[in-house]
Amino acid sequence: MRLNSKWNRRGFLGTVATIAGVMLTPRKLFATNRNAAGASKTVTGFGQTGNPYQELGVTTVINCEGTMTVLGGSLPHPELEAVMTMAGRHFVSIPELEVAAGSRIASMLKLPPDYSALVTSGAAAAMQSGLAGILTGGNEALIRQLPDLTGMKSEVIIQKSHRNPFDHQLRSTGIRLVEIETVDQFRAAVNERTAMMHFSNFANAAGQIKVDEWVRLAKQNNIPCMNDAAADTPPVSHLWDYANMGYDLITFSGGKAIRGPQCAGLLIGRKEMVTNALLNNSPHEDTLGRSQKVGKEEIIGMVKALELFLSEDHDALAKQWQDRLEGVSREIMKVPGVSTSFFVPDIANHVPHMQILWDETRVKLTPEEARKLLRASKPAIVIGEGEERPGLAMNSFMLQPGEDKIVAEQLSRILREHVA
Ligand SMILES: *Cc1c(COP(=O)(O)O)cnc(C)c1O
Repeated sequence: MRLNSKWNRRGFLGTVATIAGVMLTPRKLFATNRNAAGASKTVTGFGQTGNPYQELGVTTVINCEGTMTVLGGSLPHPELEAVMTMAGRHFVSIPELEVAAGSRIASMLKLPPDYSALVTSGAAAAMQSGLAGILTGGNEALIRQLPDLTGMKSEVIIQKSHRNPFDHQLRSTGIRLVEIETVDQFRAAVNERTAMMHFSNFANAAGQIKVDEWVRLAKQNNIPCMNDAAADTPPVSHLWDYANMGYDLITFSGGKAIRGPQCAGLLIGRKEMVTNALLNNSPHEDTLGRSQKVGKEEIIGMVKALELFLSEDHDALAKQWQDRLEGVSREIMKVPGVSTSFFVPDIANHVPHMQILWDETRVKLTPEEARKLLRASKPAIVIGEGEERPGLAMNSFMLQPGEDKIVAEQLSRILREHVA
């Protein structure tokens, strides 16, 4: 017990010291004594088939739905896996690593000078830790006290249409969400308990107050302002757009389209707020964020993932994704009564999608039945509902090479089998 709290206290002070830049320069302890070639030993036992999922009896699926956390998010670039493996070969001070990774990310993204970044275990963790940092500042007693808000501010203002399941991470700090719809209601809601204003980027179109006006209102009232843009790359420029717009904190998922480590995310924001978020997060014990551990592999992986993501030809990728959909379209349109159309959601999963419709008097099958048959086919295929459109909708940005052909074959087989 005693040891524990001593370690905890040391960890806390260590981070404060690291951030202040007073920690001793690390010696290159492990620079030469590890053999990088040791990585590819043959696996025996579990994993020896190359597909550990199959060994557990869990079916892997072809993903036409996109970056869904429930399906595993996205698949990492091979170079990312290699760098994460390297990260797993050394011990390092996690707070020191967090600070160094954050400043590398800030310079890669060319963030404004008073901005930094923190690698978290996901966008949800970034929301919680970011808000926790605003509530507690660098006060250790307050950090320990959360979610008991005695002595702290206790309200976060949000537009009613921006409420979504992820605001649980804001509520977990103990705050109360105050819902408003109009600017007048906003003005009436501001008081001395107001800690933050929250914006859900995907809901921009749904709310009366748009993304730029929201941050303007925040500045006028001197209230910190957060934008949850978890799934809102591409376009890649979103990684810096909202910081440039003046948002104090912005959150992104690492494990969605950025194709970073699955259990990683980014908190981008004002340096002091990012520091206070880290103090409320793992590895610091007796903090709300201790349950959101982020490992050295994820921190290193997130830096690499952003480097890879920034250097990608995003126009060429979008074209490749569209070409795949058109290939599937050509195949399934051969079935009488089937039609397709294309769309790109304005925000969140801003990638080519294809809507698939059929005349149910000619093809005797409901979209729901088609989805079930595809899920049960071999290989199994997961395809979405129509994103508030009738029929089925698919995207192709999480497909692996050749899987578009399989999808085209299976889908046209299933449709054809039900032609009246
Ligand atoms: C996915 C998502 C999150 C959570 O992101 P994680 O990286 O999985 O923690 C939060 N907000 C929105 C809008 C999301 O789409």
